[in-house]
Amino acid sequence: MPNPRHLRKSEKALKRLQRRASSKKKGSANRKKAINRLGRKHLKVSRQRKNFAIKTALCVVKSNDFIAYEDLQVKNMVTNHKLAKSISDAAWSQFAQWLQYLGKVYGKTVVAVAPQYTSQDCSNCGKTVKKSLSMRTHVCGCGATLDRDHNAALNILAKALRQAGIELNTAGHAGIYAWGQTDLCSLMVTSLSKPTD
Ligand SMILES: [Zn+2]
Repeated sequence: MPNPRHLRKSEKALKRLQRRASSKKKGSANRKKAINRLGRKHLKVSRQRKNFAIKTALCVVKSNDFIAYEDLQVKNMVTNHKLAKSISDAAWSQFAQWLQYLGKVYGKTVVAVAPQYTSQDCSNCGKTVKKSLSMRTHVCGCGATLDRDHNAALNILAKALRQAGIELNTAGHAGIYAWGQTDLCSLMVTSLSKPTD
C-alpha cells in the first residue's frame, strides 16, 4: 500500500517536473517532451492517491463495525499549510467517500461528526483545554494526560455514538477507532497496524 510519505515524495517530483517543463523554450520539442512526462507523472500520482484512499478505507471498514470520522472542511483547512499537506496526502475527502460507500456495501455503521471542539475538549471531563496546533499532548486539570490525537479521537467517537444513538457501554467492544484532526496519515497508519479481531 503506498503510504503518505510515498505520496509526498511523488508530489515533490511532480513540482520538479513542472518547473522543468516551464523552463523549456515554448514550442520546442524538449518542452513537449517535458510536458508529456509531467502529464504521465500526474496520472500516476492521482492513481496512487486513489489507491491509498480505497485500500485504507476497505481495511478500516472490513476490520471495524463502527467507524467514526471528523467531517473536515478541506477547503477551509487548505489555508493552513501543515494541515493542507497531510490532507492532500491522505486524500481525505476521497477517503471519507470510500468509507461511506464501503460501509454500505459491508453493512457497517459509518458516522461523520462535526469537527468543532474535538481537539480542545477533554475527553475525560468535557472541560475545554485550549491548545495550539503545536501542542501534541492534552493535559487537563482533571488528571487526564494523553496524546492530542488520542484525546480528539475519543471525543469524535463519543460524538458519533451520541449521533448514532448508541450507548457507550453497549458499543464497548474492541475494534472501535476514531481519528483526530491533525495528523490523519499517521493516525490511520497506527490504527491499521493495531491487531484487529
Ligand atoms: Zn478533563
